[in-house]
Parts: sequence; C-alpha cells; structure tokens
Amino acid sequence: MNPTAANDGDKPIRLAPIVTPDAKFFWDAADRSEFFGQKCGDCNRFRFPPRPMCPHCFSVKREEVALSGRGKIYTWIRPQHPPAYGFREPPIVAVIELEEGFRFVSNIEGIAFEQVTAGMPVEVMFADTMGKHKVPVFRPLGRGA
Ligand SMILES: [Zn+2]
Repeated sequence: MNPTAANDGDKPIRLAPIVTPDAKFFWDAADRSEFFGQKCGDCNRFRFPPRPMCPHCFSVKREEVALSGRGKIYTWIRPQHPPAYGFREPPIVAVIELEEGFRFVSNIEGIAFEQVTAGMPVEVMFADTMGKHKVPVFRPLGRGA
C-alpha cells in the first residue's frame, strides 16, 4: 500500500485540518508528510496538544521536533451512525500510544476493523484532504511500501 491509498477515489473528500496558531507547525509538517511534536525548551517534556506554555514548568520556550511516527493502538472504535462526514466508509478511530509517551487520536487504515487488536504496532502515513493538505493516519507497522 502506498500513502495515497488512504484515498480510495480520485479526489480526497476528507476535511482539511482546522489550523490554529499553536499547531501550525504540526500541520505544515503534515503537508510535507512529516510528523512533528512540540517539546518544552526548558524541561524537555512533550507538550501535546501544542500550546504556548509548558503545563509542567510554565516555560514558554518550545521546540518543534520530528517524532518517530510509531506507536501502539491503545483503543479504537468505528462510528457507524450518523455516517462520518468526509469518509467513504466508516473510519476506524483510534487512540495511539506514541513511542514518545503521549497519546494521539487518529484513524487506522489498511486493516479491517475486526483485525485490530490492543497493542498492535502502527506507523504514521499521510492521507490527502480537500484543499491539498495532509493529515497523519496510522497503519499496521511494516505494511507500508
Ligand atoms: Zn517545561
């Protein structure tokens, strides 16, 4: 599977991300197919979601760092009703425990819902959205191109 296989039609119907000033670096990175996070510039702990001030030491220094893009599935659902807007089929919505130690809500693609298991290793890929943007989604580790 290649990263664009997340879009099973010609044109993406997935909604473009809503970009806030604090998370602009994250979405800019996603548009380059890169997965970035924010670290405190003083205590070095991750801040997620991105925000101006560290919740641990109250520092306003921050660093944007590349993340491994790997993690494990913590929990997941497949919303059926009402149909999720921007998806051709009901998406798998999952909480991913990232290697860096924080959790990230995303979609799982490239696997049937019934085959998803807790703790399954996954890796990031990028799905195209309307407006020529990209969003990070996850697939089982090692099933990529
Ligand atoms: Zn800090």
